[in-house]
Amino acid sequence: MENQTSNFIKDIMIKDLESGKHQKIVTRFPPEPNGYLHIGHAKSIIINFGLADDFNGQTNLRFDDTNPLKEDIEFVNSIKEDVKWLGFEWDNLYFASDYFEEMYNRAVLLIEKGLAYVDDLSADEIREYRGTLTEPGKNSPFRDRSVEENLDLFKRMRAGEFGNGEKVLRAKIDMSSPNINLRDPVIYRIAHATHHNTGDKWCIYPMYAFAHPLEDAIEGVTHSICTIEFEDQRPLYNWVVEKCEMKSTPQQIEFGRLNVTNTVMSKRKLKQLVEEGFVDGWDDPRMPTISGMRRKGFTPESIRAFVKETGVHKGSGAVDSQMLEHYVREDLKLKVPRTMGIINPLKVVITNYPEGQIELLDAEINPENPDMGMRKIPFSREIYIEKDDFMENPPKKYFRLFPGNEVRLKHAYFIKCEEVVKDANGEVVELRCTYDPETKSGTGFTGRKVKGTIHWVEATHAVPAEFRLYEPLILETSEVNSEEEKTSFLDHVNPKSLEVLQGFVEPNMRESRPQDKFQFFRHGYFNVDPKDTTVDKLVFNRIVSLKSSFKI
Ligand code: ATP
Ligand code: MG
Repeated sequence: MENQTSNFIKDIMIKDLESGKHQKIVTRFPPEPNGYLHIGHAKSIIINFGLADDFNGQTNLRFDDTNPLKEDIEFVNSIKEDVKWLGFEWDNLYFASDYFEEMYNRAVLLIEKGLAYVDDLSADEIREYRGTLTEPGKNSPFRDRSVEENLDLFKRMRAGEFGNGEKVLRAKIDMSSPNINLRDPVIYRIAHATHHNTGDKWCIYPMYAFAHPLEDAIEGVTHSICTIEFEDQRPLYNWVVEKCEMKSTPQQIEFGRLNVTNTVMSKRKLKQLVEEGFVDGWDDPRMPTISGMRRKGFTPESIRAFVKETGVHKGSGAVDSQMLEHYVREDLKLKVPRTMGIINPLKVVITNYPEGQIELLDAEINPENPDMGMRKIPFSREIYIEKDDFMENPPKKYFRLFPGNEVRLKHAYFIKCEEVVKDANGEVVELRCTYDPETKSGTGFTGRKVKGTIHWVEATHAVPAEFRLYEPLILETSEVNSEEEKTSFLDHVNPKSLEVLQGFVEPNMRESRPQDKFQFFRHGYFNVDPKDTTVDKLVFNRIVSLKSSFKI
């Protein structure tokens, strides 16, 4: 089956195969292991794996681990898990750090060709000398060092003779290029730091702009797909591949990043949310991370369908987060059992129902998918309903319970509110109702009609459960994601993004396992939390409510 419908990247691949430029498509997904993957990365994964697969090609998972200061094995492991969970298998697992020796040799080659030099300017001075969009840069006073001196200094950089920031290796290109990326970019820096893969073997590390094209070329990647902000770096990418005399010539192709409303997607910001305690970890269900979305209850199918719908193009507007919700509803609708849960309980005593009697009522597991069969739910004299489903002094057009009114209990009987019991503070703590045995659901009773149907859980067998309801983590996304960020995005964190309620679920829910998903009547889709659920307490995360105003 085709993963990717026609798009401009696919067209390039088709042409390259037809012209014989390539016999096989090779792509890679190249995360830096400095954070958890988010929904934006899912787009990149789906494009890279999906396109290669459409041509029976190959995709590598390559960790772009060239910065020891921010990277960690925890991130490597989570990234592998997330890619697999999304439904993709990599052909090869690579680490850019495994190529450090080769990259070093290529840098030496550049020096020998007079195309790289060791510079003693400080980072600030290099920035000053670089010029601006309207002014050309200035040559560094160290630009004309001899090949011998550069080779010697670079070797001594590797040997650890200099401190962090004392020297860098720069490509010698053109300080007056209109493309600032070509104004002698730094290609190696000194960092005395332990690397998660190479330990203390290296104290010089290649910069992204130098390392990335080499990594692609070493692996024989044919199409190096990246996001649009790298467009201006393409000439440098091509320069590195050519001047380093790489055998294979990958082509860099840029597409527009995925942005989603009401969230942030930069790893720096996500990290800040975690470290400053706005959320409870990278996998907090409010996070746009793959692990957070998985814990909230999103399915790989829903994420893939959403990403596919967003398409592949150069533009990058923000996609409405409700579209994501639409796809998870669609995916779960026929798949998951329906059930009743009370998230904010109010006790109801049915005074004319025989004391001590329990009857088992029949209910469909999923009326839209009859193959899922039936379930039994107990009913007795005491039940819980939602506090919200009762009002002592209701407005007009309120069809749920109020004194003297009759409603239908889903799958059960009509009940009528006869009496309201309050505590010393005047709070309603219990309702006393009567039921009509003639009105049992499924018996075809047509005697009279009621306007409201409410859900309930039998009280003596009910299983206590915690419900976690979520609202968007970030308010006013457009401003937050704008380039010139005037206020800190933390000012837009929604203080009400999580609401925790203690309630009850049907007794058959006792067997639920982490990550099991359900549709709770009227409340929406929920996932059994994999972290906080214990044998004594079920925790349900709301994935999404049942309805939205959003139309596709
Ligand atoms: P961030 O800005 O979140 O730190 P990054 O680009 O630095 O992201 P990487 O680990 O380098 O993170 O990303 C791996 C791949 O995923 C890259 O090819 C990158 O272009 C792509 N990617 C990252 N964010 C998005 C996004 N929002 N939409 C599409 N692709 C993305
Ligand atoms: Mg990056």
